[in-house]
Amino acid sequence: MTYKSKQEILKQYFGYDSFREGQAFLVDSILAGKDVVGVMPTGAGKSICFQVPSMMFEGITLVISPLISLMKDQVNALTQAGIKAAYLNSSLTLNQYHRVLQNARNGEYKLLYVAPERLLTEEFLDFAQNSNIAMFTIDEAHCISQWGQDFRPSYLKIIDFLSQLPKRPVVSAFTATATAQVREDIVSSLKLTNPEILVTGFDRKNLSFEVIKPADKFQTLCDFLKQKQEETGIIYCTTRKTVEEVCDRLTKQGYLATRYHAGLTDQERKENQDDFIFDRMRIIVATNAFGMGIDKSNVSYVVHYNMPKDLESYYQEAGRAGRDGGPAECVLLYSGQDVRMNLFLIDNNKDAEYAETELEELIKSKDRERLKKMTFYCHTNNCLREYILNYFGDTAPNFCGNCSNCKTNFETIDITVEAQKILSCVYRVKERYGVKTIIDILRGSKNEKILHLRLDSLPTYGIMKNGEKQVREIINYLILNDYLALTTDQYPVLKLGNRSREILIDKAEIQMKLAKDIEALKPNKKVKPELLGVDQILLERLKKIRLQFASQQKVPAFVIFTDSALIDMCDKLPLNDSEFLMVSGVGEAKLKRYGQRFISEISDFVSGKNG
Ligand code: ADP
Ligand code: ZN
Repeated sequence: MTYKSKQEILKQYFGYDSFREGQAFLVDSILAGKDVVGVMPTGAGKSICFQVPSMMFEGITLVISPLISLMKDQVNALTQAGIKAAYLNSSLTLNQYHRVLQNARNGEYKLLYVAPERLLTEEFLDFAQNSNIAMFTIDEAHCISQWGQDFRPSYLKIIDFLSQLPKRPVVSAFTATATAQVREDIVSSLKLTNPEILVTGFDRKNLSFEVIKPADKFQTLCDFLKQKQEETGIIYCTTRKTVEEVCDRLTKQGYLATRYHAGLTDQERKENQDDFIFDRMRIIVATNAFGMGIDKSNVSYVVHYNMPKDLESYYQEAGRAGRDGGPAECVLLYSGQDVRMNLFLIDNNKDAEYAETELEELIKSKDRERLKKMTFYCHTNNCLREYILNYFGDTAPNFCGNCSNCKTNFETIDITVEAQKILSCVYRVKERYGVKTIIDILRGSKNEKILHLRLDSLPTYGIMKNGEKQVREIINYLILNDYLALTTDQYPVLKLGNRSREILIDKAEIQMKLAKDIEALKPNKKVKPELLGVDQILLERLKKIRLQFASQQKVPAFVIFTDSALIDMCDKLPLNDSEFLMVSGVGEAKLKRYGQRFISEISDFVSGKNG
């Protein structure tokens, strides 16, 4: 047996010339026998970090993964790269299950993906105790933490399992979203020994961020989609009902849209997902049930029709855009109703069953706290990217130039008097009303509630002439900065905040940034920058061939080659095997399978023949 270097493995199997940020460090640490925790954003390339060393170890690597679809995608991709891999989960028949386990006993796989529920079954334990397990990898490792989103009790079996092995393998854990607390939880729950912890920057530079507070969400969505006719995107909604509604209305308007949520049959879910992945549908309207393990590289926008429950979810879902590294847009359509809906979902969450009510209450209050931070994201007038990165414990400059706040023309105005009026009003009504009522009082509304409760006799009635939207913006700013506080009940009530004294008693001067012209956000240019200089005709011809291979093998197109690999072909115009190997994303297995066909198309193109 000849020993290959990590670079040689990367090139030969995955077709890449160099490791990305953090990858080489984690691979080296693993090879040196150290436990590792890799915290990297979606799309950063976590899989390579354990797949490359798995090819260099003698013995098998077990990979724990929470979802069937995720395992399937990864095993698919590995098989395409010429690496022997399989999975064990509930999608297999009993026969298939035994066959895979037998193959594994015979040492036929380098990687075996396993659902956490399987680990402690008698059969699997017997296999594991009698095999040479080189490495144990935990994907989506945040699932082990009760403080993270997506806590999975079955992940707690991992430590039991490890303790029953005759020899402890190297343990590597990976996650995309982890705050410091979750990170510590991963290390302690897995009892990692002196691990190397690598946190790469969370910034996804190719993503732009935008928050809109539309009067009419659907109209705003349509205006956005009009500029995206040729592109592929995901629209996330909080509830199944909204998914149905939005999808219906889009279809009626002629969009190629399909839907995805947990209320559909397994078969329809699968069909719809495939329609989207195989590019038969341009748009998928979905709940958060969609997406984990979706490695579709050419998603160029993610719209959130509703605000999600926390920034972890938001960044993970929005992060499904632009995985090919090309520019992509993440848009959030906010309304106050989203906050109430999420509060309701937190209070009625039946996902996890907790033995102790105390624990349940603690977890729910953490959920509410996260929701609050998510809401602040929608209200801040500062750089959105900075806000996200700070949330995940990263430092960031306060101007990115690529989010809706950085692109908006703000002016700083003095709101000292406005702030005093608003706080006095909240004080006068003894902190009993929500934002809407406070605004109505301040602006002198004559609506029924106001008149019925005689709120029009208050001294603060009708003392503000500003537009409703502006008063609301100022109130949000005051909440954001602790001058006011919003309770987290079902009907949130405005209270005086910790810093209210500064305004009411110390008469502090308050300034805030207000948008000068919201129109500053221009629709994006037609051609994506990375496509400039690429021959569109050749690219289309290569995409056709890719589609033929994909349909023959019943796999998504990007499993054959990603868009960026095809673009690189157009750029390098390879005319023989060794030139084809220079294309980023082409390894030896893919050269063997697809090289000839693509090379002949390219040489036809170069010599002027039609495709
Ligand atoms: P993650 O699991 O971190 O979300 P993946 O492992 O799915 O990310 O990788 C995302 C994409 O980046 C994949 O298409 C993968 O092939 C590609 N990729 C990973 N490492 C490299 C590299 N060193 N060079 C080029 N592309 C890479
Ligand atoms: Zn910014």
